[in-house]
Parts: sequence; structure tokens; C-alpha cells
Amino acid sequence: MIQIEKRLREEAKRLLETKEAAVVLAFGRGFDEEHPMPLILRKPSDAEKIVFNEYCTFNMARHLTEFPPGTKIAVAVKAADSRAVTVLIQEGKVKREDLIILGIPVAGMKDFRSGTAIDATTTGPAVNPVLYDILLADLLPEPKDVSPYDVLAEIEAMSPDDRWGFWSAEFSRCIRCYACRKACPLCYCETCFVDQAKPRWSEKSPSASSNMMFHLTRFYHLAGRCIDCGSCSRACPMDIPLYLFHKKVSKECEEMFDQAAGMCVDAKPVMVDFKVEDSDDILL
Ligand code: SF4
Ligand code: SF4
Repeated sequence: MIQIEKRLREEAKRLLETKEAAVVLAFGRGFDEEHPMPLILRKPSDAEKIVFNEYCTFNMARHLTEFPPGTKIAVAVKAADSRAVTVLIQEGKVKREDLIILGIPVAGMKDFRSGTAIDATTTGPAVNPVLYDILLADLLPEPKDVSPYDVLAEIEAMSPDDRWGFWSAEFSRCIRCYACRKACPLCYCETCFVDQAKPRWSEKSPSASSNMMFHLTRFYHLAGRCIDCGSCSRACPMDIPLYLFHKKVSKECEEMFDQAAGMCVDAKPVMVDFKVEDSDDILL
């Protein structure tokens, strides 16, 4: 991790000095080492503020859409983060030529709230970025025989009534703080449907029905797009296991369309592509 931090500082300084990048998106120290913060750098001298450790779990792709088109941005990405960058390019939200992608192969990241290791339970098992221009460490062996969907076994074994009961109970705890939405690199709508006044799609205050409306809409908005970074679940102050729903939708999409989100920058996102042989199960 120390080596990655050193390389990240060197590259950030160089890219800003040479003006190859106007902005670098990386990780900075928070109130202590276990709570790093997103760091947006514009001056080479700020590169010293960069940190990288096992708690740098947030997805800096979240900030890519915050800059005017044409801004040259260098962004530090881990495995799942690079898939978010890929989706944003596929969806035309950022241009590939405006990005310098600093790839970070890394394993053993930890959840800062629990201190426990993050693994395929809450996020994908991959350890290498799928898209990068500059690699900040050697590629690592990818974990074998680990499916990001194994964690779904228990919920898939439930009856529909029990599953409805499970999610109704989980969503009833939601306080509508929208931290999940804020943490998600692919929730970039300027005005979320839930914030619209005309028409008003949903009550703003938490209630069983409006919470269900918010979450189901958000889950399906992320269908075929969620890259399993787990940021939403880790951001949730109520520990609602949002990843279970996102993973279930991703699994269905992958089975129907044979494509996981954000793996190939030249592929079209599944929800805007059409092939005659596509499964009709989506209509069921
Ligand atoms: S929905 Fe959650 S897991 Fe999926 S991309 Fe957004 S933050 Fe990551
Ligand atoms: S972060 Fe958790 S509590 Fe906040 S809106 Fe999302 S699910 Fe609800």
C-alpha cells in the first residue's frame, strides 16, 4: 500500500506539473488514517496530501461527472472503480480522451466502520482494474472460483412472501438520508426522480410505501449498470444490505444478456443494446 501511495503521489505531481491533467481525483487523509477522504487536486504541491491505505474504499469515479466537459482528469481507480469509469464512458458522461486512468491492483481492502475485510460478500471479488492508462503496481492473481453472487444463496432460497417480508422490513428502517445515492458513481442524474416536485413521484419523508418506491426505482435504474463496488451499502448508516438487491439484479442481467456491467469499454450497456437472440425473460 505504501508503494501505491508513493506511485500515486509521483504520478499526480507529474501529471499536474506537465498539465497533462487539470485535476487529479485521489484519496486524502481524513481525521485519522482509518478515515481517508476523497481528494481533488489541482496543484502539483498538493500531491503530498495523497494517501493510500486499505480504507480507501470509496469510488472516485463518483466525481467524474462533476467537471465541465473537456476537463482533463486523472482518476485513481481500483478494480470496481474502473468498471464505473467504463460505464460512464459507455453512457457518454465522460470522454475516454479526457481521462488518464491510474489503475490500482489491490486486495485486502477494509470497511472503515467495522474494520473487517471487504470481500465478494458486499462487493465484487476482482482485484485488478479492467481499464487503465498507468498501472501503479503489478497486476495480482485474480481470486479463482469466487462468484460475486454466492452471497445470494440464502435470499434466493426464500419464498416470495418471505423475501417480500425481508425487504419490507429492511426498507422500513431507511431514513432517506440518500447517502447510498450520493456514494454511487452511477447515480448522476441532475435531479433525482425522488426530489422532483412536478410531477411528484414519491413522498420525501420516510414511510414504508415511499421507501419501497425509492429503492425499487433506484435498483432498476441501476439494472445492467451497477458495477458491484459496494459503496452504497458501506455508506448506509442503517446497514441496509443494498448490495443483495443490486447483486440479484446484476446476476439476472448477466444471465439474460451474458454481459456484466462495465467490463468492456467498447460494449454497449445491456439496457440500450438489442440482439434478436436476447432473452425475453426481462418481460416476465
Ligand atoms: S448501486 Fe451501489 S454497488 Fe452499484 S455501482 Fe452504485 S454504489 Fe456501487
Ligand atoms: S443510505 Fe441507507 S438510510 Fe440512507 S437513503 Fe440509502 S438505504 Fe436509506
